[in-house]
Amino acid sequence: MRIKYFDIGWLSRTDGPGNRTVLFLQECNLRCPWCHSPHSREVESPILFNEVRCINCHNCMEICIQNVHSFRNGIHMVQRKNCIKCGRCIEACPTSRLDTNSGALFLPTRSMEVSDMFSLLRPQLEVLKTSGGLTVSGGEALLQKEAVMEILKLCKSRNIHTAVETSLTLPEEYYDSVSEYVDCWLIGLRGTYLNNISDKIKSTTMNNVRYFSRLDSEVVVRFPVIKNYTMSEIQLSRIAETMCIGAFNNIEILPCNKSMEHYYKLSGITSEINAEDAFPDAYEIKCIVSFFKAKGFNVKVIS
Ligand code: SF4
Ligand code: SF4
Repeated sequence: MRIKYFDIGWLSRTDGPGNRTVLFLQECNLRCPWCHSPHSREVESPILFNEVRCINCHNCMEICIQNVHSFRNGIHMVQRKNCIKCGRCIEACPTSRLDTNSGALFLPTRSMEVSDMFSLLRPQLEVLKTSGGLTVSGGEALLQKEAVMEILKLCKSRNIHTAVETSLTLPEEYYDSVSEYVDCWLIGLRGTYLNNISDKIKSTTMNNVRYFSRLDSEVVVRFPVIKNYTMSEIQLSRIAETMCIGAFNNIEILPCNKSMEHYYKLSGITSEINAEDAFPDAYEIKCIVSFFKAKGFNVKVIS
């Protein structure tokens, strides 16, 4: 069984309890406009180009048989739709390597056998055993539910704490198939408070909320705070009502990520949000925290 991922976070304190190794899986069923990993949406990421790392050597243009790279007035143009992801330009680029995400060019989507992934992560997970564990995130992690189950099982067989982040918009069986191996769920409730979400996603989410209310594992609601998208009083009330239905006590407030535009630029995907305009100020965050605290929830701001 192979697992398809686009990044590994080697030490995070914001993706689950304590210190986490975070495995970010490729592909998502939603298209949230504030997503800061737009290259994770499709089955495979487009080729990413970071102009800051480019030294204009033209090697990529010379080697690419698809004519993806061209230069006009010293500006490097990338026609991603022609790319067949052969990786030859990355091998030819003096600042890039096929196995890293830090050069001028990279193809972040990779896959490997779950057992090999576990061997790669295990040295750090053993160190984190007493202070954290593994978080599987995305994309939407559970689109690869069989692979997720396999890596969670390996963790549990070695007493490693597990967390899974999900939008809660997949059918219940996706959650049921892995829940016995999950210590902590990090859940989004977009399906209950976004205005333009389909009725089908709304009812699926509410069904999952009721399913999660019966689980013994820890559940943390994660709420992205995005001006003009998620901050209205009605939306806050809907989240609070849903948390009561699910008997969820914990909510994490995630202000819009100011660096969210980075991967839009690298992947050539147009962002509908300007991060500066979408970022809530300190007073607005304080009001949101007070709102949820007044309802009796445990609130944490993630920044
Ligand atoms: S990955 Fe291959 S097809 Fe895509 S830009 Fe590079 S050389 Fe061209
Ligand atoms: S090979 Fe790399 S450094 Fe050279 S022009 Fe292409 S992207 Fe830039």
